[in-house]
Amino acid sequence: MANAFFGGVHPHDMKAATNEKAIQQLPPPPEVVIPMSMHFGAPCAPLVKKGDYVKVGQKIGEFRGLGAPIHASVSGTVKAVEPRPYSMGGNMMSVIIANDFQDALSEEVKAPANPDALSVADMVEAVKNAGIVGMGGATFPTHVKISSGIGKVDTVIINGAECEPYITGDHRTMLERPEEIIGGATYLAKMFGVDVVIIGVEDNKQNGIDSMNRVISEKNAPVEVRALACRYPQGGEKQLCQAITGKQVPPGGLPSNIGCAVFNINTTCAIYRAIKDGMPVVKKIVTVSGSGVAEPKNLECPIGTPVSRLFDECGGLDENTYKLVMGGPMMGMAQYTAEVPVGKGTGAMLAFCGDEEQTVEHPQCIRCGKCVAACPMHLEPLFMYQYASKDMLDELNEAHVMDCMECGACAYACPARMHLTHMFKYGKQKLKDKMAADRAAAEAKKASKKEVVAK
Ligand code: SF4
Ligand code: SF4
Repeated sequence: MANAFFGGVHPHDMKAATNEKAIQQLPPPPEVVIPMSMHFGAPCAPLVKKGDYVKVGQKIGEFRGLGAPIHASVSGTVKAVEPRPYSMGGNMMSVIIANDFQDALSEEVKAPANPDALSVADMVEAVKNAGIVGMGGATFPTHVKISSGIGKVDTVIINGAECEPYITGDHRTMLERPEEIIGGATYLAKMFGVDVVIIGVEDNKQNGIDSMNRVISEKNAPVEVRALACRYPQGGEKQLCQAITGKQVPPGGLPSNIGCAVFNINTTCAIYRAIKDGMPVVKKIVTVSGSGVAEPKNLECPIGTPVSRLFDECGGLDENTYKLVMGGPMMGMAQYTAEVPVGKGTGAMLAFCGDEEQTVEHPQCIRCGKCVAACPMHLEPLFMYQYASKDMLDELNEAHVMDCMECGACAYACPARMHLTHMFKYGKQKLKDKMAADRAAAEAKKASKKEVVAK
């Protein structure tokens, strides 16, 4: 019996528009724009220049420090290497490739003769070379999560919760590619040296659970599927760990602090393809939905496809569309243009033209406490809001705002429609800026003391 996690809300899942629609391949775009930052860590350095010919799977960006390499998603000629708009706001250095529609595969992509005979070190290396990151949106480099967890992690969890409304890409993957999920989970069991890998799935995907269980029993795989009662944000790493193990990640900690490592469903498929076929991450499954989309779909497209192509494939945008969101409605990022490209962490593109936005011009807290009950991180959003809006940064820090995962559960529960999550994003950034300024001032003070002593 699975345990619950603290707090949470029950938004309407809005998945009916796409959960019975098979994943469709997007017709190849004439051009892709591949940003050099699609991972947690510093951006990659481009390895190609204007005029170069590239093939699918060829490495075109190399990481430094924490990161993951980036590969060409189509074959063709590099049109430019220049900053372009991207989903996190502002511009990012990008490699623009004019597609020659030949789909020529790079010689760098090599399947091992016997994937099942690979050592753990070789498998981790394959994951690294494939540029795999958390494809549920976290984009943390997967090879780092694996190598830093080996020997410390005893519970490996696959995140099949997909608790954000509208998004159905993981659900469709469970139905259409269960062999890849179970294959990837089996490789993870081998890398971590655990007897069983647990896949946590919300119980609104019973056919997905059945599909994976069929493959587990056919292959006698070291994998178990656990059905979880639906509640947002079940798919948060820390909440999923608690729901599966009953243990809580300590404040400021990571799942590895309680011996857990969590991988997204599509990350697990990418691990399977990397180890079995040597194939890097060059495609992404994206749910295109929302009231502004004529015909919602699950589309698979090359990384770097402008999201406007996805909307075109779904019959175009309603002329009254007032908001575009990359990701789910609870945690996604609003976009000011449909020309941003699909990245490794893009799970959905939503467009809204109805009355979804229920804003209040001058919201007033009525101290009902619903936000406190909803917060899965045991925070007190009503007080954090006061501190953040008044720039009371010390108090905000003491209220543990840095533990806020920006899940939006408090804002969803708030009857006064307070702009809670927005204010916490603002407060966290202010606090980070202050910490950086304090550090710089301390360094400068230390340096000037040294100078005085030297004189
Ligand atoms: S839910 Fe909204 S109105 Fe209620 S206490 Fe929290 S911030 Fe105030
Ligand atoms: S957005 Fe932050 S404060 Fe609000 S419920 Fe989520 S974790 Fe708690």
